[in-house]
Amino acid sequence: MAARKPGRLFFANPGPTNIPDSVLRAMDRATIDFMAADFLEIYDQAVAGLKRLLLTNQEVFLYAATGHGAWEATLQNLFSPGDAILMPQVGYFSVAWGKIAQRFGLELIGPEHDWRHGVDIAALQATLAADSAHRIKAVCIVHNETSTGVALPLPEIRAALDATAHPALLLVDTISSFGSLEFRMDDWGIDAVVGGSQKGLMLPAGLAFTAVSEKALAAHRDARLPRFYFDWSLMMARRHRSFMGTVPTGPFYGMLEAIALIEAEGLEQVWRRHTRLAEATRRAVSVWSGNEGVSFYCADRARRSNSVTAVLMPEGHDAELVRKIAYDRFNVSLGGGLDPLGGKLFRIGHMGDLNEPMLLGTLGVVELALAAAHAPFARGGVQAAIDYLGHDDHSIR
Ligand code: PLP
Repeated sequence: MAARKPGRLFFANPGPTNIPDSVLRAMDRATIDFMAADFLEIYDQAVAGLKRLLLTNQEVFLYAATGHGAWEATLQNLFSPGDAILMPQVGYFSVAWGKIAQRFGLELIGPEHDWRHGVDIAALQATLAADSAHRIKAVCIVHNETSTGVALPLPEIRAALDATAHPALLLVDTISSFGSLEFRMDDWGIDAVVGGSQKGLMLPAGLAFTAVSEKALAAHRDARLPRFYFDWSLMMARRHRSFMGTVPTGPFYGMLEAIALIEAEGLEQVWRRHTRLAEATRRAVSVWSGNEGVSFYCADRARRSNSVTAVLMPEGHDAELVRKIAYDRFNVSLGGGLDPLGGKLFRIGHMGDLNEPMLLGTLGVVELALAAAHAPFARGGVQAAIDYLGHDDHSIR
């Protein structure tokens, strides 16, 4: 067994994320009947809180699953075999969602996009405009591509649908943006929101959900893909309006506490904290990119994510070595590059229960690990982050 490293592991993966101590304590509960009145009260409060964080008054279906389950559930409940959907492929996660859709016999259409920029919204709009027969049943977007660190402006995508008067549903994966990046389901006209518990919501993995608009519920009634465990109609007939089996009770105590933490800080303040910590990270990476060193994978400045930064290695340098040194020697866990970006980049997660010292510790170790891996970079990134965080005026970007 490896020797224990003193001190805390600094967990800087872009999900799952750190779980606050009070959330861990809240889940430390004996088993309770999931139909018992005292649990139902907790459950109903947690679901109401989830809707407040999503800024929606509409239906939310919960599953004992991770994000992949919510992806499947959403496709099964909304479509029929042969339906066409516009699902731009802009990174590992949007490609993975597309693979599920293809398994279900859906047709993926649309232009190619450059992963380093994310969705080309003008091209997306042109595709919608050309679809005068309205074959496209939905536009499916990953709000924050966790594999590339590119976040998309959802209101602009909504505007592309509106400008073409296209009736397609708008589906959004918020798995690594929910609770971290500004997100307004109802104001932004989003029909189905796919989310998970283990990132901005600061819970363990294992709960996932889809929030669903009236328009999407109407589409659901005509959808013919086979489904059972994830069937929303069956769920709506049950007391919890979710879960086709045993309801996992423990996580709901944790969810209630996590929602209380977010609301005590203030949802908009949580978004601002993520912006501030992300900007500090970007200041560090900008400095490191000197000397032809590491750089941003996301080539579009305005789209650099506030919950994860993907750091691209210069040619001939292995991101996995940096990650290994950071973990083995310095007790900092970073995210790696996901196929086909394996070895090419590492990812700094800055989402969830995070503050300045945790971020500065992580950035300090990234500098140490880059040096130990003999990777090119310019020194002074951590100082740039400190200078930024120490400044009162946090005008961003
Ligand atoms: N979508 C995004 C944007 C993700 O970041 C992830 C996981 O990191 C997923 C979907 C898949 O979720 P899960 O791993 O919980 O199944």
